[in-house]
Amino acid sequence: MELSQLTIKAAREKLLAREISALELTQSCLEKIAASDKEIGAFLDVFEEQALSQAKQVDDKIKAKERIGPLAGIPLAIKDNILIEGEQCTAASQILANYRASYDATVIRKLKKEETVFLGKTNLDEFAMGSSTENSGFQTTRNPNDTSRVAGGSSGGSAAAVKADQCLGALGSDTGGSIRQPASLCGVVGMKPSYGAVSRHGLIAFASSFDQIGPLAKTVADAEIIFEAIKGKDSNDATSLTIPQEKKIKKPSEIRIGVPKEYFVEGMEKAVEKNVKQFIHKVEGSLASIEEISLPHTKYALASYVLISASEASANLARYDGTRYGLSDPKNEALTLKDLYFKTRGECFGEEVKRRIMIGSYALSSGYYDAYYLKAQKVRTLIRQDFEKAFQQVDFILAPTSPFLAFKIGEKTDNALSMYLADIFTVSINLAGLPSLSMPAGRANGLPVGIQIIGDRFQEKGIFKLASFLEQLTTDK
Ligand code: GLN
Repeated sequence: MELSQLTIKAAREKLLAREISALELTQSCLEKIAASDKEIGAFLDVFEEQALSQAKQVDDKIKAKERIGPLAGIPLAIKDNILIEGEQCTAASQILANYRASYDATVIRKLKKEETVFLGKTNLDEFAMGSSTENSGFQTTRNPNDTSRVAGGSSGGSAAAVKADQCLGALGSDTGGSIRQPASLCGVVGMKPSYGAVSRHGLIAFASSFDQIGPLAKTVADAEIIFEAIKGKDSNDATSLTIPQEKKIKKPSEIRIGVPKEYFVEGMEKAVEKNVKQFIHKVEGSLASIEEISLPHTKYALASYVLISASEASANLARYDGTRYGLSDPKNEALTLKDLYFKTRGECFGEEVKRRIMIGSYALSSGYYDAYYLKAQKVRTLIRQDFEKAFQQVDFILAPTSPFLAFKIGEKTDNALSMYLADIFTVSINLAGLPSLSMPAGRANGLPVGIQIIGDRFQEKGIFKLASFLEQLTTDK
C-alpha cells in the first residue's frame, strides 16, 4: 500500500507511533500527483517545496514529543477559490490568472495552526459556476474512475484528487452542490456544513447567501476531522456562528429517516434510481424506520436557485473590472475607462460566467425585480418551510445526490440547462441553509453512486454519526 492511500485517521496513528514520517507521507502524495495528474488534471498548482518543509517541521515536533493538532502533517489539497497568503488564487478564471492572495482565508489560518501540509490548489469551474469543471479557464479535470468522464463540479479537482489518492483530504466550496455532486460522481465523501458553520472569509465569493466551505475525504470520519478543524465563529465573517450544543444524539436504532418522494424524478438515470433505492432498502433493514415524506416545492428549487445565485453573482463579480484585481485589458486596446471595463470583462470571463452575470443583472433590473428576484426569494421561503415541516416528522432525510452518473466529457457543454439539472437534488439544501453529506452508496455501470444525508440546521454531529453507521452498508469504499 502506498502511504498516500491512507485515511487521515490511519495516517495520524502511524505518525504518532512514528511508523511513518510526515515527510514520507507528503512525498508519497507528491509522487502520486507527479505520476497521475497529467491525466487527471486535478491540480492548478502544486507546492512541492513548501509542502516538504511543512512536513519536516511536523516531524521535528513529533520527534521532540511536542503536542500536535489532529491534522498536523496531513497533506490536504485546497480548492483554488480559497486564499492562501502569497499563493495564486485564480478561481479557475483567466481574469485572476496573475492574482496572488495577500492574506489567508480563515479556514487556512486554522489549518496552518494545526500544521496541516498544503499540497496545492485544485481545479474548479470558473468562479465555482458549473457541475463538471469543464467551465475552468485552464483545464478539465478527469474522473479517476473513468478518465473519459467528468469529475463533477465545481469542486471537481478536490474530489478527483481525493479519489486518485493524490492527497488525504481536501477543501471544497458548495453554493448549490459543488462539494456533494463531485463527491458523488467520484465516489468520495463530501460535506456541506450549515450556512454559517464555517467562515467564508477568504473564499472568493460566488453567491454570498449560499456559499459554504466544507471537506472532501475518503471516509466519513476523515470528513469530520477536517470539519471540526475549520468550523466556528469568525469576526471576519458576520454570517458565521458557533454551532449550538446539539440535542442528545440518537442511537441509529432510534433515528427516523424520511425519503422525499419528489427526489425520484422523471428523467433521472434509471441506474442511479435503482441503486439509491436498493441502498435505502438496506438502510431500512438495519434502522428503526424509514418513511416517505414530501417536500412539495422541490420542483421550483432549481429556478429559484438559478435566479438568486446569479443575482448575487452579478453583484459579487462587479469587482473584477480591470482596475483592482487580476488582469486588465489584456490586449491593451482600451481608449476610455468604459472600454477598459468591457475589454477586461469581455475577454477574461468565460461564457458561463457571462451568462450568470447577464441572468443576474436582468433579474435584478427595475421592472423585472418583482417578477424574478423577489419571486425567487418567496419560493426560497417556501422551500425552507418544507424542510422545517419535514424535520418535525423525521430526524434526517436521505436522498440521491445527483440524478445521473459521471457523464462523458463534452456531453453537456452545449446545453446550459442540462448542466443545471445536475444540481436538481442539491440546491434546495443550499436555499434552506442546511447541512448535508454525500457518501458513496454503491456502483452502477461501474461508476460511483452517491447518497446524501440532509439534517436540520447545525445537526452536523448527528449527520456524521449516521453517515458512519451507513458507511458500513456501502459496497463501494
Ligand atoms: N453547479 C451549481 C452551479 O453551477 C453549483 C455550483 C456551486 O455549488 N458552486 O451553480
